[in-house]
Amino acid sequence: MIQPWLESAWARLLALGARLPHAMLFVGPPGLGKRDLAEALAARLLCESPRADGHACGTCDACNWRSGGNHPDFYRVVPAAVADQADGGEEGGATAAADGGAGKAKSSQIVIEQIRELQSALAVTGHHSEQRVVVVDPAEAMNTFTANALLKLLEEPPAGCTFLLVSSAPRRLLPTIRSRCQQWSFPRPDAAQREVWLRGQGKDIEVLLDLAGGLPLAATRLAERDGAAFAARFVRDLSGDPDVLKLAGQWEAWLKSKESLAAGFGLPMLVDWMQRWVADLVALRLGGRARFYPGQEKTLTALAARMNVASASNCYNELAQIRRVVAHPLNLRLFIEDMLMRYARALKGARS
Ligand SMILES: [Zn+2]
Repeated sequence: MIQPWLESAWARLLALGARLPHAMLFVGPPGLGKRDLAEALAARLLCESPRADGHACGTCDACNWRSGGNHPDFYRVVPAAVADQADGGEEGGATAAADGGAGKAKSSQIVIEQIRELQSALAVTGHHSEQRVVVVDPAEAMNTFTANALLKLLEEPPAGCTFLLVSSAPRRLLPTIRSRCQQWSFPRPDAAQREVWLRGQGKDIEVLLDLAGGLPLAATRLAERDGAAFAARFVRDLSGDPDVLKLAGQWEAWLKSKESLAAGFGLPMLVDWMQRWVADLVALRLGGRARFYPGQEKTLTALAARMNVASASNCYNELAQIRRVVAHPLNLRLFIEDMLMRYARALKGARS
């Protein structure tokens, strides 16, 4: 399904027709629907009789093979860990994911074997039609070695092959990969698009949309996996004086839990929530209102009374800074401890 804010991009892609580049890179924040867009385009390219609206018909042999996960000319290169999370449904496809082996954690990286498999598969001519499609998602899950192997394919693309790379962190891609692809950047939906989208959703989604940084699909994912419970736990954990070391351990386990992975709840979101929590504390301390956690004003007001404005603002700025390195903490536990220590220090601000 194409999200409303990606409709115009979809129309522009279709308008390219036969001039569609052989390699494209879809970039934008996570939870925007880039993956669905790439999947819809792949489906359209493989379909034998696309509908008038440009979408794949969903009923021809090619469509059936693709949705059944066995289209011979469709290659989905995703990390094994991601392939595991996909819940089936329309997420079929010949997923070229290496098995991490029983009992071993699945790789969150695209491994070199996957690209080698792809290379040998593409070395033979297309099975069914002249059109072949490769989706690489997320493209930043390739290390330099793996990316260089893919680069060879992009440099000398097999006939009739379209590469669709998807990335939320394009700066982590090799510049040579980026320059080989036509880049399509998708921004966050604007206020009007959000409004339209919200109207079609359940009533509690607005809160989750805020908690998901304004990204609708991330909000939906949270909603489907009981995101309200996540938010409630977060609030509960911060409602008193946190025991920093104990809470850091609990939060580490929380982030690593299956439920969190399934809901898309990770460190970036936790740090976001923390930052908003402190933003509300600062606002209340200055006599304003709680913007992000309006339902928690009583708790927040009591906490804010114990902070001084300078220490609370400091804490907010520090969180903004650590937010930038959140994608790759060297040590998750230490990262959370550090974050909570800064917060605890700010809480004690008024007393010292
Ligand atoms: Zn079809």
